[in-house]
Amino acid sequence: MGNNIFDTLIAVPLSLGAYKANVIETKEISLDRAFRDMCASNACGVYGKCWMCPPDVGDIEVLMQEVGQYDYALVYQTVTELEDSYDFEGMIEAKKKSYPLAQGLRKTFDDPKFARVLHLGAGGCGVCKVCAKRTNEPCRYPERAMPSLEAYGINVSALAKSAGMKYINGQDTVTYFGAVLFSLNGEMQ
Ligand code: SF4
Repeated sequence: MGNNIFDTLIAVPLSLGAYKANVIETKEISLDRAFRDMCASNACGVYGKCWMCPPDVGDIEVLMQEVGQYDYALVYQTVTELEDSYDFEGMIEAKKKSYPLAQGLRKTFDDPKFARVLHLGAGGCGVCKVCAKRTNEPCRYPERAMPSLEAYGINVSALAKSAGMKYINGQDTVTYFGAVLFSLNGEMQ
């Protein structure tokens, strides 16, 4: 998209360490409630243990509908080299590195030219070491808490394609995605 605001937005995650970034229209985003079913299988062990993860993050039908209320998505990806394809520690570290990038984008979108903004990250929330949900206390930082793309039913592999990115970026690397959904106020674009 040859748009000044979009070009400026794309530059922000790149300056914060993203490998690639792009702006797409949210109508290009493919949604599927099957991703919620994958969460329910609890392969990550966090299902029901984080306020920003299913089932506490909200009803999947409502969240998928919410995606359509935004016009655009700034999609970004991080690519990190691993020691080998069994480097699970490296994968966890890479995910942790994606959290400050996601939070760093908040400042950019805290601007009156944006009518609505929704930050979605990779995997669980990641703000606290241990989510307050585990001790049944309220979220400690609701203004920074961040659900994942999958929690909203977003097909991340299709998202990568729509944004002109590869879902996998080579042997012994791990790729994580994040997106900021937004609408512009008035005719500022
Ligand atoms: S900010 Fe902390 S308490 Fe709130 S959802 Fe995220 S990890 Fe949990």
